[in-house]
Amino acid sequence: MTHKPLRLIIDRKALQSNWRWIAAQSGVETGAAVKADGYGLGAVEVVATLADAGAKEFFVSTWDEAEALGKLPEGARLAVLHGLGPDDALAAKDSPHRPVLNTMSQVQRWRAAFGDRACDVMIDTGMNRLGVGMDELDGLQGLRIDTLHGHLACADEDHPMNALQLERFSAAKARVEAQRYALANSAGILLGKDYAFDLVRPGIALYGGVPRREAELMIEQVVTPEAQVVQIHTVKAGDSVGYGATFTAERDTPVATLNIGYADGFARNLSGKAHAVRGNTLLPLLGRVSMDLVAVDISRAGDVREGDWMAIDYQLPQIARDAGISQYEALTGLGQRFERVWV
Ligand SMILES: *Cc1c(COP(=O)(O)O)cnc(C)c1O
Repeated sequence: MTHKPLRLIIDRKALQSNWRWIAAQSGVETGAAVKADGYGLGAVEVVATLADAGAKEFFVSTWDEAEALGKLPEGARLAVLHGLGPDDALAAKDSPHRPVLNTMSQVQRWRAAFGDRACDVMIDTGMNRLGVGMDELDGLQGLRIDTLHGHLACADEDHPMNALQLERFSAAKARVEAQRYALANSAGILLGKDYAFDLVRPGIALYGGVPRREAELMIEQVVTPEAQVVQIHTVKAGDSVGYGATFTAERDTPVATLNIGYADGFARNLSGKAHAVRGNTLLPLLGRVSMDLVAVDISRAGDVREGDWMAIDYQLPQIARDAGISQYEALTGLGQRFERVWV
């Protein structure tokens, strides 16, 4: 295969350690959301790694994502969050996986095609995005429901919606029979045991995101982007760097140009904010992030050569703040030009 000049270093132990910490917080069956190709890490590897740590319940968005996972590890189960759309019957027919039915028309489609095969159902407790309405619960009678799900809209904040959604979900639980009940994502787990019910669906916290301050210092960084040096040169005092000439050197400055840019999901808003890392030394980015390149001040880096690998300081909370994006975007945006290297 052709060499790729940028790679994501993915820390298997950190991923497992985050899952274990989250599982300990929840105190109940703890699954993992692995949609969007495992939040960009590679869903097949994520599932294998978390199954190895003890996870059994996995969640993707679409049947296409389910198929891409191939054969699951022994004992693992999978649910498809977007349910059974008009074009999904064929995929569902030969699949061992459960849809999470989101609308009454999905429920009818499922009943008509598969009778009393087990399914999951998502109810809408106030997010108004996906889910069967609180006024439609009677229509679920007779379905064989494995897990009844709800989803929190504001769990990463101290918001009155949290208690309201908890109350509505508890009311739905009293009315709808299911094997298990599940409400919490990563942030929801940190709201307390009341929110855990029988099963939780963490995503971002497994991958190094810090959804609430309760998780600070407990969640380990999992993903580190590294890029190769394309060129080394010295920018003369008074000369500028990059598009828009936004940075001007005050003194002669040695600069390394790295093979990473905003087309790789390295946000352009990180211009002048993010750092590369060499040993323990943070090296400032100079000028604007280009589509495929970024310039780094290597004054304090010691000996750097073309072809050397340089890591980017990519702690999700900090990157998200600096770039003005969510931690989810900072992670899932990291594109297909990275080789994924599991260590
Ligand atoms: C993506 C998703 C999750 C995981 O959410 P995080 O905030 O990443 O922990 C849980 N539940 C549902 C329904 C989701 O779509």
